[in-house]
Amino acid sequence: MSNQLSDRINSLVPSATLEMAAKARELRAAGKDIIGLSLGEPDFNTPDYVKDAAIQAVQDNYNAYTPVDGYVELKDAVITKFKRDNGLTYDRTQIVVSTGAKQSLYNVAQACLNAGDEVILPCPYWVSYSDIVKLADGVPVEVPTTLERDFKMTPEQLEAAITPKTKMLWYSSPCNPSGSIYSKAELRALADVLLKHPQIVVVSDEIYEHINYGVTAHASMAAFPDMYDRTVTVNGVAKAFAMTGWRIGYIGAPAYIARACNKLQGQVTSGANCIAQRAVITALTESPDRIQYMVDEFKERRTLILSLLREIPGFECNEPEGAFYVYPDVTAYFGKTLKGTEIHNASDFAMYLLEHANVATVTGDAFGNGNCIRISYAASVNEIKEAMERIKKALG
Ligand SMILES: *Cc1c(COP(=O)(O)O)cnc(C)c1O
Repeated sequence: MSNQLSDRINSLVPSATLEMAAKARELRAAGKDIIGLSLGEPDFNTPDYVKDAAIQAVQDNYNAYTPVDGYVELKDAVITKFKRDNGLTYDRTQIVVSTGAKQSLYNVAQACLNAGDEVILPCPYWVSYSDIVKLADGVPVEVPTTLERDFKMTPEQLEAAITPKTKMLWYSSPCNPSGSIYSKAELRALADVLLKHPQIVVVSDEIYEHINYGVTAHASMAAFPDMYDRTVTVNGVAKAFAMTGWRIGYIGAPAYIARACNKLQGQVTSGANCIAQRAVITALTESPDRIQYMVDEFKERRTLILSLLREIPGFECNEPEGAFYVYPDVTAYFGKTLKGTEIHNASDFAMYLLEHANVATVTGDAFGNGNCIRISYAASVNEIKEAMERIKKALG
Protein backbone atom coordinates (compact mmCIF):
# COMPACT_ATOMS: atom_id res chain seq x y z
CA MET A 1 0.00 0.00 0.00
CA SER A 2 1.26 3.50 -0.73
CA ASN A 3 1.90 5.95 2.06
CA GLN A 4 -1.51 6.87 3.43
CA LEU A 5 -0.20 9.35 5.98
CA SER A 6 -1.46 12.92 6.08
CA ASP A 7 0.54 15.84 4.71
CA ARG A 8 0.35 17.17 8.24
CA ILE A 9 2.23 14.28 9.79
CA ASN A 10 4.59 13.91 6.85
CA SER A 11 5.71 17.51 7.26
CA LEU A 12 6.16 17.19 11.02
CA VAL A 13 9.78 17.03 12.18
CA PRO A 14 10.52 14.57 15.00
CA SER A 15 11.60 16.25 18.26
CA ALA A 16 15.37 16.67 17.92
CA THR A 17 15.97 16.34 21.64
CA LEU A 18 14.01 13.11 21.90
CA GLU A 19 15.70 11.84 18.74
CA MET A 20 19.16 12.49 20.12
CA ALA A 21 18.19 10.70 23.32
CA ALA A 22 17.04 7.72 21.25
CA LYS A 23 20.34 7.65 19.32
CA ALA A 24 22.27 7.77 22.58
CA ARG A 25 20.19 4.87 23.90
CA GLU A 26 20.94 2.90 20.73
CA LEU A 27 24.69 3.42 21.07
CA ARG A 28 24.48 2.51 24.75
CA ALA A 29 22.68 -0.72 23.86
CA ALA A 30 25.56 -1.43 21.47
CA GLY A 31 27.94 -1.23 24.43
CA LYS A 32 29.14 2.38 24.08
CA ASP A 33 29.58 4.45 27.23
CA ILE A 34 27.55 7.51 26.26
CA ILE A 35 27.18 10.55 28.49
CA GLY A 36 23.75 12.02 27.81
CA LEU A 37 23.71 15.81 27.96
CA SER A 38 20.97 16.13 25.37
CA LEU A 39 17.75 15.86 27.36
CA GLY A 40 16.30 18.69 29.35
CA GLU A 41 15.63 16.59 32.37
CA PRO A 42 16.68 17.03 36.00
CA ASP A 43 18.69 14.08 37.36
CA PHE A 44 17.08 14.44 40.79
CA ASN A 45 14.33 12.33 42.29
CA THR A 46 10.89 13.85 42.72
CA PRO A 47 10.85 15.29 46.28
CA ASP A 48 9.52 12.88 48.91
CA TYR A 49 6.69 15.14 50.05
CA VAL A 50 5.32 15.13 46.50
CA LYS A 51 5.75 11.36 46.12
CA ASP A 52 3.93 10.88 49.42
CA ALA A 53 0.97 12.87 48.15
CA ALA A 54 0.77 10.61 45.10
CA ILE A 55 0.93 7.45 47.21
CA GLN A 56 -1.82 8.84 49.42
CA ALA A 57 -3.94 9.59 46.34
CA VAL A 58 -3.64 5.96 45.21
CA GLN A 59 -4.67 4.79 48.69
CA ASP A 60 -7.56 7.25 48.69
CA ASN A 61 -8.85 5.75 45.44
CA TYR A 62 -8.41 8.68 43.14
CA ASN A 63 -9.07 6.66 40.05
CA ALA A 64 -12.00 8.25 38.21
CA TYR A 65 -11.92 10.76 35.38
CA THR A 66 -11.03 14.18 36.73
CA PRO A 67 -12.69 17.38 35.57
CA VAL A 68 -11.31 17.97 32.06
CA ASP A 69 -9.47 21.15 33.09
CA GLY A 70 -8.20 19.70 36.38
CA TYR A 71 -9.38 19.09 39.95
CA VAL A 72 -10.80 22.21 41.57
CA GLU A 73 -8.25 21.80 44.40
CA LEU A 74 -5.45 21.76 41.85
CA LYS A 75 -6.81 24.82 40.03
CA ASP A 76 -6.93 26.56 43.40
CA ALA A 77 -3.33 25.53 44.08
CA VAL A 78 -2.35 26.94 40.68
CA ILE A 79 -4.21 30.18 41.51
CA THR A 80 -2.35 30.37 44.84
CA LYS A 81 0.96 29.75 43.09
CA PHE A 82 0.37 32.44 40.44
CA LYS A 83 -0.53 34.94 43.16
CA ARG A 84 2.36 34.00 45.46
CA ASP A 85 5.15 33.75 42.89
CA ASN A 86 4.05 36.05 40.08
CA GLY A 87 1.58 38.53 41.55
CA LEU A 88 -0.99 37.29 39.02
CA THR A 89 -4.67 37.09 39.89
CA TYR A 90 -6.64 34.40 38.11
CA ASP A 91 -9.96 32.75 38.88
CA ARG A 92 -10.92 29.15 38.21
CA THR A 93 -12.34 29.92 34.76
CA GLN A 94 -8.85 30.99 33.66
CA ILE A 95 -6.90 27.89 34.65
CA VAL A 96 -6.50 24.71 32.58
CA VAL A 97 -4.37 21.79 33.75
CA SER A 98 -2.92 19.62 30.99
CA THR A 99 -0.74 16.60 30.31
CA GLY A 100 2.49 18.60 30.53
CA ALA A 101 3.27 22.18 29.53
CA LYS A 102 3.83 20.80 26.04
CA GLN A 103 0.15 19.97 25.78
CA SER A 104 -0.72 23.36 27.27
CA LEU A 105 1.20 24.98 24.41
CA TYR A 106 -0.39 22.68 21.85
CA ASN A 107 -3.87 23.52 23.18
CA VAL A 108 -3.23 27.25 22.97
CA ALA A 109 -1.97 26.97 19.39
CA GLN A 110 -5.01 24.95 18.36
CA ALA A 111 -7.30 27.35 20.20
CA CYS A 112 -5.89 30.58 18.77
CA LEU A 113 -4.46 29.99 15.30
CA ASN A 114 -6.10 29.97 11.90
CA ALA A 115 -4.33 28.85 8.74
CA GLY A 116 -1.68 31.39 7.78
CA ASP A 117 -1.59 33.20 11.11
CA GLU A 118 1.95 34.22 11.95
CA VAL A 119 3.62 33.45 15.25
CA ILE A 120 6.76 35.35 16.17
CA LEU A 121 9.43 33.12 17.71
CA PRO A 122 12.59 34.80 18.95
CA CYS A 123 15.46 32.39 18.18
CA PRO A 124 16.70 30.30 19.78
CA TYR A 125 13.30 29.03 20.89
CA TRP A 126 12.20 25.85 22.61
CA VAL A 127 12.43 22.93 20.24
CA SER A 128 8.71 22.20 19.86
CA TYR A 129 7.30 25.72 19.36
CA SER A 130 7.77 25.74 15.63
CA ASP A 131 6.14 22.36 15.00
CA ILE A 132 3.30 22.97 17.44
CA VAL A 133 2.55 26.17 15.52
CA LYS A 134 2.71 24.36 12.18
CA LEU A 135 0.37 21.63 13.42
CA ALA A 136 -2.18 24.40 13.95
CA ASP A 137 -1.54 25.63 10.38
CA GLY A 138 0.24 28.66 11.79
CA VAL A 139 3.37 30.13 10.26
CA PRO A 140 6.43 30.43 12.53
CA VAL A 141 8.27 33.71 12.00
CA GLU A 142 11.77 33.33 13.35
CA VAL A 143 13.51 36.39 14.76
CA PRO A 144 17.23 35.73 15.06
CA THR A 145 18.98 37.09 18.14
CA THR A 146 22.68 37.31 18.88
CA LEU A 147 25.06 36.01 21.50
CA GLU A 148 26.20 39.62 22.07
CA ARG A 149 22.67 40.56 23.16
CA ASP A 150 22.38 37.46 25.30
CA PHE A 151 20.02 35.91 22.71
CA LYS A 152 17.23 38.35 23.56
CA MET A 153 14.89 39.97 21.06
CA THR A 154 14.91 43.77 21.03
CA PRO A 155 11.74 45.90 20.73
CA GLU A 156 12.99 47.06 17.30
CA GLN A 157 13.31 43.47 16.11
CA LEU A 158 9.82 42.69 17.38
CA GLU A 159 8.35 45.73 15.64
CA ALA A 160 10.07 44.78 12.38
CA ALA A 161 8.73 41.21 12.53
CA ILE A 162 5.08 42.22 12.98
CA THR A 163 2.81 42.06 9.95
CA PRO A 164 -0.99 42.30 9.63
CA LYS A 165 -0.98 38.48 9.86
CA THR A 166 0.85 38.34 13.19
CA LYS A 167 -1.38 36.64 15.73
CA MET A 168 0.96 35.57 18.51
CA LEU A 169 4.37 35.94 20.13
CA TRP A 170 5.83 32.91 21.93
CA TYR A 171 8.92 32.92 24.11
CA SER A 172 10.34 31.18 27.16
CA SER A 173 12.01 33.06 30.02
CA PRO A 174 14.21 31.69 31.50
CA CYS A 175 14.92 30.49 27.98
CA ASN A 176 15.45 26.94 26.90
CA PRO A 177 18.03 26.69 25.29
CA SER A 178 19.95 29.94 25.99
CA GLY A 179 19.28 30.34 29.73
CA SER A 180 18.54 34.03 29.14
CA ILE A 181 15.98 35.84 31.28
CA TYR A 182 14.03 38.88 30.15
CA SER A 183 14.07 41.51 32.88
CA LYS A 184 10.87 43.32 33.78
CA ALA A 185 12.12 46.40 31.91
CA GLU A 186 12.91 44.36 28.80
CA LEU A 187 9.46 42.78 28.85
CA ARG A 188 7.92 46.23 29.33
CA ALA A 189 9.73 47.46 26.22
CA LEU A 190 8.36 44.52 24.22
CA ALA A 191 4.90 45.15 25.68
CA ASP A 192 5.04 48.76 24.52
CA VAL A 193 5.48 47.53 20.95
CA LEU A 194 2.66 45.01 21.35
CA LEU A 195 0.27 47.68 22.61
CA LYS A 196 0.31 49.17 19.12
CA HIS A 197 -0.84 45.80 17.74
CA PRO A 198 -3.85 44.71 19.79
CA GLN A 199 -4.42 41.55 17.73
CA ILE A 200 -1.32 39.84 19.12
CA VAL A 201 -1.65 37.30 21.94
CA VAL A 202 1.47 36.48 23.95
CA VAL A 203 2.46 33.03 25.17
CA SER A 204 4.88 33.39 28.09
CA ASP A 205 6.44 30.02 28.87
CA GLU A 206 7.69 30.26 32.44
CA ILE A 207 8.44 26.61 33.16
CA TYR A 208 12.01 27.46 34.32
CA GLU A 209 10.83 30.27 36.60
CA HIS A 210 12.29 28.71 39.75
CA ILE A 211 15.55 27.68 38.11
CA ASN A 212 16.96 31.18 38.30
CA TYR A 213 20.52 31.93 39.44
CA GLY A 214 19.73 35.30 40.95
CA VAL A 215 21.05 37.75 38.34
CA THR A 216 17.74 38.81 36.78
CA ALA A 217 14.52 38.46 38.75
CA HIS A 218 11.74 36.49 37.10
CA ALA A 219 9.06 38.66 35.50
CA SER A 220 5.73 37.73 33.93
CA MET A 221 4.29 39.51 30.91
CA ALA A 222 0.77 39.08 32.33
CA ALA A 223 1.77 41.12 35.39
CA PHE A 224 1.50 44.27 33.27
CA PRO A 225 -2.17 45.28 33.58
CA ASP A 226 -2.27 46.33 29.90
CA MET A 227 -0.97 42.89 28.82
CA TYR A 228 -2.98 40.72 31.21
CA ASP A 229 -5.96 40.25 28.90
CA ARG A 230 -3.83 39.09 25.99
CA THR A 231 -1.21 36.92 27.66
CA VAL A 232 -1.27 33.18 28.28
CA THR A 233 1.09 32.21 31.09
CA VAL A 234 2.33 28.64 30.68
CA ASN A 235 3.99 26.75 33.49
CA GLY A 236 4.44 23.22 34.81
CA VAL A 237 6.18 21.06 37.37
CA ALA A 238 8.43 18.98 35.09
CA LYS A 239 11.63 20.95 35.49
CA ALA A 240 11.59 22.64 38.89
CA PHE A 241 10.16 19.61 40.73
CA ALA A 242 12.00 16.90 38.80
CA MET A 243 8.66 15.55 37.56
CA THR A 244 9.14 15.28 33.80
CA GLY A 245 7.43 11.91 33.56
CA TRP A 246 4.43 12.88 35.67
CA ARG A 247 3.17 15.06 32.83
CA ILE A 248 1.42 18.00 34.44
CA GLY A 249 1.43 21.53 33.03
CA TYR A 250 -1.02 24.38 33.27
CA ILE A 251 -2.00 27.79 31.95
CA GLY A 252 -3.37 31.00 33.37
CA ALA A 253 -5.17 32.71 30.51
CA PRO A 254 -7.98 35.01 29.45
CA ALA A 255 -11.15 33.03 30.20
CA TYR A 256 -12.14 32.68 26.52
CA ILE A 257 -8.83 30.99 25.72
CA ALA A 258 -9.01 28.75 28.79
CA ARG A 259 -12.53 27.73 27.76
CA ALA A 260 -11.31 26.83 24.28
CA CYS A 261 -8.43 24.75 25.66
CA ASN A 262 -10.85 22.97 27.97
CA LYS A 263 -13.15 22.18 25.03
CA LEU A 264 -10.26 20.82 22.95
CA GLN A 265 -8.90 18.75 25.82
CA GLY A 266 -12.37 17.31 26.39
CA GLN A 267 -12.22 15.76 22.94
CA VAL A 268 -8.58 14.70 23.04
CA THR A 269 -7.40 13.57 26.51
CA SER A 270 -10.35 14.01 28.91
CA GLY A 271 -7.88 15.66 31.26
CA ALA A 272 -4.57 14.90 32.91
CA ASN A 273 -3.69 11.88 35.06
CA CYS A 274 -5.55 11.84 38.39
CA ILE A 275 -2.70 10.71 40.66
CA ALA A 276 -0.24 13.16 39.16
CA GLN A 277 -2.75 15.96 39.65
CA ARG A 278 -3.16 15.14 43.36
CA ALA A 279 0.63 15.15 43.80
CA VAL A 280 0.94 18.52 42.08
CA ILE A 281 -1.55 20.08 44.51
CA THR A 282 1.07 19.44 47.19
CA ALA A 283 3.98 20.49 44.97
CA LEU A 284 2.42 23.88 44.25
CA THR A 285 0.98 24.52 47.70
CA GLU A 286 4.25 23.96 49.53
CA SER A 287 6.84 26.75 49.51
CA PRO A 288 9.25 26.86 46.54
CA ASP A 289 11.97 27.02 49.21
CA ARG A 290 11.62 23.25 49.44
CA ILE A 291 13.04 22.77 45.94
CA GLN A 292 15.81 25.35 46.28
CA TYR A 293 18.40 22.61 46.95
CA MET A 294 18.09 21.51 43.31
CA VAL A 295 18.53 25.06 42.05
CA ASP A 296 21.61 25.48 44.25
CA GLU A 297 23.06 22.29 42.84
CA PHE A 298 22.34 23.38 39.24
CA LYS A 299 24.05 26.67 39.99
CA GLU A 300 27.26 24.91 41.03
CA ARG A 301 27.16 22.75 37.93
CA ARG A 302 26.66 25.83 35.79
CA THR A 303 29.82 27.39 37.24
CA LEU A 304 31.67 24.14 36.62
CA ILE A 305 30.58 23.61 33.03
CA LEU A 306 31.21 27.25 32.10
CA SER A 307 34.76 27.08 33.42
CA LEU A 308 35.42 23.77 31.65
CA LEU A 309 33.93 25.07 28.40
CA ARG A 310 36.27 28.05 28.49
CA GLU A 311 39.17 25.61 28.23
CA ILE A 312 37.87 24.22 24.96
CA PRO A 313 38.91 26.31 21.98
CA GLY A 314 36.13 27.44 19.63
CA PHE A 315 33.28 27.38 22.14
CA GLU A 316 31.77 30.82 22.68
CA CYS A 317 29.17 31.06 25.37
CA ASN A 318 26.80 33.47 27.08
CA GLU A 319 26.36 33.12 30.81
CA PRO A 320 22.98 31.45 31.34
CA GLU A 321 20.96 33.11 34.10
CA GLY A 322 18.43 30.33 34.44
CA ALA A 323 17.34 26.85 33.23
CA PHE A 324 20.06 24.18 32.99
CA TYR A 325 21.63 24.49 29.57
CA VAL A 326 24.60 26.13 27.96
CA TYR A 327 24.28 27.12 24.35
CA PRO A 328 27.77 27.65 22.95
CA ASP A 329 28.41 29.05 19.50
CA VAL A 330 30.56 26.49 17.67
CA THR A 331 30.86 28.17 14.26
CA ALA A 332 34.65 28.12 14.71
CA TYR A 333 34.48 24.43 13.72
CA PHE A 334 32.36 24.85 10.61
CA GLY A 335 34.32 24.11 7.43
CA LYS A 336 36.90 22.10 9.36
CA THR A 337 37.68 18.40 8.98
CA LEU A 338 37.98 16.48 12.24
CA LYS A 339 39.27 12.89 12.12
CA GLY A 340 38.16 12.62 8.51
CA THR A 341 34.68 14.04 9.20
CA GLU A 342 33.78 17.31 7.53
CA ILE A 343 31.85 19.63 9.83
CA HIS A 344 29.43 21.75 7.82
CA ASN A 345 26.98 22.76 10.52
CA ALA A 346 25.84 22.30 14.10
CA SER A 347 24.17 18.96 13.31
CA ASP A 348 27.43 17.55 11.95
CA PHE A 349 29.19 18.90 15.01
CA ALA A 350 26.73 17.36 17.50
CA MET A 351 26.94 14.06 15.63
CA TYR A 352 30.74 14.24 15.73
CA LEU A 353 30.64 14.75 19.49
CA LEU A 354 28.32 11.78 19.86
CA GLU A 355 30.50 9.47 17.79
CA HIS A 356 33.98 10.63 18.76
CA ALA A 357 33.48 11.92 22.31
CA ASN A 358 30.50 9.71 23.13
CA VAL A 359 28.69 12.76 24.48
CA ALA A 360 25.10 13.44 23.42
CA THR A 361 24.22 17.12 22.87
CA VAL A 362 21.60 18.73 20.61
CA THR A 363 22.16 20.67 17.41
CA GLY A 364 21.22 24.33 17.61
CA ASP A 365 19.21 23.95 14.39
CA ALA A 366 16.50 22.34 16.48
CA PHE A 367 16.07 25.66 18.30
CA GLY A 368 16.11 27.87 15.24
CA ASN A 369 19.75 28.88 15.58
CA GLY A 370 22.25 26.84 13.60
CA ASN A 371 25.42 28.37 15.07
CA CYS A 372 25.18 26.65 18.41
CA ILE A 373 24.72 23.35 20.18
CA ARG A 374 22.80 22.86 23.40
CA ILE A 375 24.46 21.10 26.29
CA SER A 376 22.39 20.24 29.34
CA TYR A 377 24.10 20.37 32.71
CA ALA A 378 21.28 18.55 34.45
CA ALA A 379 23.85 15.79 35.01
CA SER A 380 26.20 14.81 37.83
CA VAL A 381 29.41 16.73 38.44
CA ASN A 382 31.40 13.66 37.43
CA GLU A 383 29.49 13.27 34.19
CA ILE A 384 29.99 16.94 33.37
CA LYS A 385 33.73 16.73 34.05
CA GLU A 386 34.15 13.54 32.07
CA ALA A 387 32.05 14.83 29.17
CA MET A 388 34.02 18.08 28.87
CA GLU A 389 37.29 16.14 29.05
CA ARG A 390 36.14 13.85 26.25
CA ILE A 391 34.95 16.75 24.11
CA LYS A 392 38.27 18.54 24.57
CA LYS A 393 40.14 15.41 23.56
CA ALA A 394 37.92 14.73 20.53
CA LEU A 395 38.49 18.26 19.29
CA GLY A 396 42.19 18.43 20.13
C1 LIG B 1 10.38 21.04 29.06
C2 LIG B 1 9.75 22.26 28.50
C3 LIG B 1 8.38 22.31 28.24
C4 LIG B 1 7.49 21.10 28.36
O1 LIG B 1 7.25 20.76 29.65
P1 LIG B 1 6.38 19.43 30.00
O2 LIG B 1 5.61 19.85 31.20
O3 LIG B 1 7.37 18.35 30.25
O4 LIG B 1 5.51 19.14 28.83
C5 LIG B 1 7.84 23.48 27.78
N1 LIG B 1 8.59 24.56 27.56
C6 LIG B 1 9.92 24.55 27.78
C7 LIG B 1 10.70 25.79 27.52
C8 LIG B 1 10.54 23.40 28.24
O5 LIG B 1 11.87 23.37 28.40
